[in-house]
Amino acid sequence: MTAPGADPSLGDLSRAELGELLDGEPAYRLDQVWDGLYRQRRPLSELTNVPKSLRQAIGELLPPALTLVRTQSADRGTTTKHLWSLRDGHLVESVLMRYRNRMTLCISSQAGCAMACSFCATGQMGFDRNLSLGEIVEQVLGTLQEAGPDDRAARGRAINSGAARGRAINIVFMGMGEPLANYDAVWAAVERFHGDMGIGARHITVSTVGVIPGIERLAAEALPVNLAVSLHAANDRLRNRIAPINRTYPLRDLARSLADYRRAKRRRISLEWAMIGGVNDSDRDAAELAAYARPLAAHVNLIPLNPTPGYGHQPSPAGRIEQFAAELSSHGVNATVRQNRGTSIDAACGQLRADKLVSVRKDGRGARSRAER
Ligand code: SAH
Repeated sequence: MTAPGADPSLGDLSRAELGELLDGEPAYRLDQVWDGLYRQRRPLSELTNVPKSLRQAIGELLPPALTLVRTQSADRGTTTKHLWSLRDGHLVESVLMRYRNRMTLCISSQAGCAMACSFCATGQMGFDRNLSLGEIVEQVLGTLQEAGPDDRAARGRAINSGAARGRAINIVFMGMGEPLANYDAVWAAVERFHGDMGIGARHITVSTVGVIPGIERLAAEALPVNLAVSLHAANDRLRNRIAPINRTYPLRDLARSLADYRRAKRRRISLEWAMIGGVNDSDRDAAELAAYARPLAAHVNLIPLNPTPGYGHQPSPAGRIEQFAAELSSHGVNATVRQNRGTSIDAACGQLRADKLVSVRKDGRGARSRAER
């Protein structure tokens, strides 16, 4: 399950496939490598209980899918954005947010996105390609590896790497791309996170703009992951405009598939709503949203619009957001106003954007991409 024409990376291989590769080695080697990578979450080079020659052989056969180009931090070091280069030069980003007892890893499922939501920076850049299983899995492994020693050095006991490794991990497919438009690789990654890394289904969230066939497939899976739906408008006229996939999967059909998901998985669905000043933030918008959310018993997350280069609108003022939430509440719908993380490094919702690497310098550090300038 790799990108077309690409050689597999370590993250692409299942345990059984790695086992075939290690055929001829003592049986415990597979455990050592697999547990080292996915339980201890250490880089291959650090698995010192495995002979160096074997580590090198594996590394040569299955070179990394991702190369770290740049790390940026915000929110006093609690939010970190990683920019990764894929082997073909495409760039993707993932974001780590640390909280007291947990950390949330926001990962990308595609290079670019074809959904073209007007207010989203990834949508504005267009679609490049689906990520492979390895490219998705290695965002998580790479981020956790990066988080380790750095944390220990920088922040001591409160947020140290031991805690980071032991701390509950949430994984959200809320980075670049539409996860349900890359279903097979995304689901294989979910199974890796769950089965091999021990991350519970309730700690994994798939976020979609409303790709109904994908929601139907999710509903048929055994693992009940959380489902978040980026709604932003609860009437078709407005939604067609700001989330054009609505023309293919209109609100009424979407509601039906969400009701089915809820029935099948017994999981609360969340609806994401970027608060866009003067566009979708009136009391009437709130009433429409409430009428949509209530029969689904959905929870609403209100995200103040984050600025993106290609969208002129402003976030709703704080007072308007509070009033909107109150209006929802008066209609019996619970809403949370999301605290924005990482806006200063363009790491917040909808701000991830990274074009192809223009050139790679000899020292291995990436040149600045078009989008960063
Ligand atoms: N394609 C998926 C995954 C992307 S998730 C989806 O649409 O759900 C990114 C989340 O950030 C989505 O809820 C998206 O609607 C929201 N978002 C996009 N642009 C935003 C912006 N400029 N400000 C606030 N939220 C935004």
